[in-house]
Amino acid sequence: MDGRLIIRNERIETAEKLTSENPATLEPVGEASLASEAVCGRAVQAAKEAFPVWRTLPPRKRGEIFRKAEKILARRAEEAGRLISLEKGSPYAESLAVEVFGSLQALSYYAENQERLLRPHAAAHHVPLFYNKKSAFHFHPLGPTLVISPWNFPFLIPFCDVLSAMTAGNTVVLRPSTTTPLTALLLGEVFVEAGLPPGVLNVVVCRVPLAEAMIVHPDVQTVMFTGSVGTGKRIMELCSRNLTNLTLELGGKDPMIVLKDADLERAARGAVWTSFMNCGQSCGSIERVYVDREVVESFTARVVELTGAVKVGNPLDSGVDMGPMANAGQLKVVMEHIEDARTKGARILAGGNRPAALPGYFIEPTVLDRVDHKMKVMAEETFGPTLPIMPFESQDEAVALANDSRYGLTASVWTRSRRQAEWFAERLEAGSVTTNDHMYSFVEPRAIWGGIKQTGMGRSHGPYGLHELVNIKYVSMDFLGKPSQTWWFPYDRGLERLLEKTITVYHGQGLARKLGAALSLRPELPRILRTSSVLNYVKSLPRIFKG
Ligand code: NAD
Repeated sequence: MDGRLIIRNERIETAEKLTSENPATLEPVGEASLASEAVCGRAVQAAKEAFPVWRTLPPRKRGEIFRKAEKILARRAEEAGRLISLEKGSPYAESLAVEVFGSLQALSYYAENQERLLRPHAAAHHVPLFYNKKSAFHFHPLGPTLVISPWNFPFLIPFCDVLSAMTAGNTVVLRPSTTTPLTALLLGEVFVEAGLPPGVLNVVVCRVPLAEAMIVHPDVQTVMFTGSVGTGKRIMELCSRNLTNLTLELGGKDPMIVLKDADLERAARGAVWTSFMNCGQSCGSIERVYVDREVVESFTARVVELTGAVKVGNPLDSGVDMGPMANAGQLKVVMEHIEDARTKGARILAGGNRPAALPGYFIEPTVLDRVDHKMKVMAEETFGPTLPIMPFESQDEAVALANDSRYGLTASVWTRSRRQAEWFAERLEAGSVTTNDHMYSFVEPRAIWGGIKQTGMGRSHGPYGLHELVNIKYVSMDFLGKPSQTWWFPYDRGLERLLEKTITVYHGQGLARKLGAALSLRPELPRILRTSSVLNYVKSLPRIFKG
């Protein structure tokens, strides 16, 4: 385990160290170097200097580097999976399935599509007077990108962000959570080994004030932030200083809606997995379950039964389904939410306590009912293994309850009816709505990730995610060779007449009026011929007739 920072592909040891803690045993996992202000400055400088090299490297060559990284990570998958489990506490199978496999899939997607994703594409014209121009959208990188990532998926989240930023042609400084620094350094190591040009990806672990200093650094062009709403607001404030481009992937309070025609076995299993995987520490965890009153009893009974079978223990032991919370602070929040619900009248149907025999930040998977939106567990992000269940009487009520949140990341509806699924998808306020599944789309690189309301701004992943990281440039060519444009000076009476008639031709009421206006344009023909292409007018005839 190498805790040295990565700048220009070199490993940097600093005097100040940070100890990474295993949340299951509370023993140290290892030490990471902590960057000073000067070291953070060197990282930004390295990204700045590498930018001209990286942005001009042919996409095919970038794809080859990503392909190499894919093979290296596949070879080091077990090591990565174990380190993630050690630092964050997720069971080894989960670290492999979500974080390592997800990162490998992202690598192969960006490697395969490197040449295609941001190719310029033609921009057609709607205004007939511009028909002769040839225009296109081009996608240009912006420059050094600062990725600030959380601890809850310490490998996959920065992996996807770093890959998107580099695919867009940007260079990166990755500043990971101080809770999980070693995992992020391993990520960087994979790219160094793959032969990424020096300075394209730099990984620096530093304290918050130095992270803030990097945000306001004039050479940082984009900040990609994933974390809590409170920190997101602070980052936005800091980005306002230089109007730095920003994406914010913040909290969630995802609802699951179970209709009476749902496959209840699948719904119950889905709820238990999505609420408790990663010890509930996923922005896309199911944190609120709304069930049709007709089936709520049988659904709840099955959920409680399945929860009883979730094995809590050391994440590196085979057969363990749920490890500890990643840190003491988060554990405290979850216990507070459960206590708040309990005192306000909720019933704890399973869990609710800390297992006495385990030393780390463990908590039992917890199922609650008799909950309402006045309780923190239904209104605020819990970010822990809680599964509160609330019945609904009508579909409209289910939608109203689901949308009654300051968050809007993802939502799911569980039904056998495609029509019902579409009805809900139309009405749920979220960045993604899935049917009979939840949260899988984070690892689908062709999907998007992100949400509305206080869940954040912008989208990550896939082609739409890339658009947040580039200058979308409109490039237009006019080689018609006319000495002037029709609408340029002089503003004489002839031009006024021409414009009056043209407006009627394109936007007037009734074909007869339009044709009349078109015929009355005859005196203006010399001006039209002198300043534009007759073809523009001919090509627009279908529009004139249609309108
Ligand atoms: P956090 O906001 O405390 O920290 C996130 C990162 O920002 C960490 O690296 C932290 O060290 C850093 N940071 C904190 N204050 C900072 C500041 N003032 N300037 C610069 N950097 C600062 O969040 P967390 O506890 O690490 O992660 C959990 C949160 O992340 C949850 O709210 C969760 O919903 C959210 N999250 C969202 C998504 C998403 O895609 N929407 C994904 C994962 C996690």
